[in-house]
Amino acid sequence: MPARRAFLISATAALALSYALSFALAPAGPAAAQTGRPIPVVATFSILGDMVKRIGGEHVAVTTLVGPDGDTHVYRPTPADARAVSEAKILVVNGLQFEGWLDRLIDASDFRGVRVVATDGIEPIAFEEGGHDDHAGHAGHAGHAGHEGHGHDHGAFDPHAWQSVRNATVYAHNIAVALAKADPAKAGAFDRNRAAYLDRLEALDAEIDRIVAKLPAGRRTVVTSHDAFQYFGRRYGLTFIAPQGLSTESEASAKDVARLVRQIRAEGIRAVFVENITDSRLLTRIAEETGARIGGTLYPGALSGPDGPAPTYLDMMRHNAKTIAKALAP
Ligand SMILES: [Zn+2]
Repeated sequence: MPARRAFLISATAALALSYALSFALAPAGPAAAQTGRPIPVVATFSILGDMVKRIGGEHVAVTTLVGPDGDTHVYRPTPADARAVSEAKILVVNGLQFEGWLDRLIDASDFRGVRVVATDGIEPIAFEEGGHDDHAGHAGHAGHAGHEGHGHDHGAFDPHAWQSVRNATVYAHNIAVALAKADPAKAGAFDRNRAAYLDRLEALDAEIDRIVAKLPAGRRTVVTSHDAFQYFGRRYGLTFIAPQGLSTESEASAKDVARLVRQIRAEGIRAVFVENITDSRLLTRIAEETGARIGGTLYPGALSGPDGPAPTYLDMMRHNAKTIAKALAP
């Protein structure tokens, strides 16, 4: 507990310092002429769109490209997306090659704004470090070279960094800095919103710790569709395994599925989880074959709609933790 607090406090202090510096360097004068008009911001997917709204409040007009329950891995941008990017002053992206279609979209638009990479400053997990490390050569990558025909693949790092709340504090910082630079007259408001959001993130981080703490050591393996929860697992002490790789573009091989089925049986794993963004048939089949039940729906990389259980990032993380803890508890 004290270690966690110390981490968050020092991380927050470091961010506050660099925030103050970047504010000091922001140009004064002409930009203030824009006072009153919300900043046009494009966010690539729903989690980023939510964060920009929390920090920008009424001073931003946010367009989100991949909406609720949408799969960013396999998204195809539309002409309307290109127009939104052309008109944006700020484009907020996750980075770590999560948005494999981003460069093509920017090429197709007339974007002259600032691109903000939300993951700048986080400690990324190299994909080899992720799940399946006891099965060298798998990890849904080397073994899936045959799927290169689908187009781009992921990069060297796991892009799902938002799955640790600590990383979300970095996202919030990067967004606040960019908004303050774009509209220095509103920098105070962005800083207040960011501080309030960081308080909520810190409380959520502690809450997830408490929720997951209920699970004994033998109940901490979580089976999902695709490999999206390594940051969550590392931060909160769970092991996530999935038949699909880091991107939903890769397909699970029969060998991968057979190995997963053996592991579920051997460890006596009683529940597996479907995802809001991926087809549930494979997991349903694995559940039937192993006798595990479907423990619920997890949200790896997209919020739910307003009436679902995960309409905001905070709701999403809490929902995932509670769903896992409820289904795997003794
Ligand atoms: Zn994913």
